[in-house]
Amino acid sequence: MDVILFGPPGAGKGTQAGRISDALSIPHVSTGDIFRYHLKQGTDLGTLARGYMDRGELVPDEVVFKLVADRLTQDDALGGILFDGFPRTVRQAELLADWLSTNGRGTGVVVNLDVPESILVPRLTGRRTCENKSCGAGYHLVFSPPVAHGVCDRCGGKLLQRKDDNEETALNRLDVYRSQTAPVLAWLRQHDAPVLDIDGTKAIDAVGNDIEEGLKAFSA
Ligand code: ADP
Ligand code: ADP
Ligand code: ZN
Repeated sequence: MDVILFGPPGAGKGTQAGRISDALSIPHVSTGDIFRYHLKQGTDLGTLARGYMDRGELVPDEVVFKLVADRLTQDDALGGILFDGFPRTVRQAELLADWLSTNGRGTGVVVNLDVPESILVPRLTGRRTCENKSCGAGYHLVFSPPVAHGVCDRCGGKLLQRKDDNEETALNRLDVYRSQTAPVLAWLRQHDAPVLDIDGTKAIDAVGNDIEEGLKAFSA
């Protein structure tokens, strides 16, 4: 089963992804994480993506889809993928739907994390992430703080703030979400993708429980 984890920046997609990925035994694929990996490695793709990411704009659709199509053909993705941060434009949704139908896969289930904008900016500016790629644990200064300030509970790694999580870029990302990404949800509904609407304002564990219960109903 393919699952699209949908929602605005700061909705809690990355926070919930690990639990869903474990429950369904499908790999978690975050296009944002892939771009950040390329940025760190200094690849051509990273160089290309950097300007867009720093401004809070979207990387061009064809570039994103090439990367996703490569990922979809890897062995561990044959039974399904958990998409996080993709598709983010109607064009990306069309490209994905074409690929899935050509390859005999259904539309996938959409998990829509519903969170009002007023909560998103503080969530983004307070977000911190473990520096170790093998860990990657996520925290929030106020809503999900580590035991020791600035240190990962799981691995002792340093907690870093993303460059694009400053207030100005976060606001721009929310504008981009409103104009380019929010219409994707309507498009998916029109194309008969089952959508599980989740109240993303609840506590992290409660949101996770709601998603797990909802997905059980879909796969039953
Ligand atoms: P996304 O991947 O959708 O951009 P994240 O999962 O990284 O969002 O969450 C953004 C920030 O909000 C993180 O710092 C995270 O710890 C925090 N967060 C996530 N879910 C919740 C929640 N249900 N309540 C409070 N804070 C949350
Ligand atoms: P968020 O936590 O805000 O949801 P992501 O980590 O998913 O952020 O994405 C960070 C940045 O990477 C985006 O602002 C954008 O520049 C780029 N990006 C990630 N996924 C996509 C995508 N599907 N299409 C275009 N750009 C993307
Ligand atoms: Zn860690």
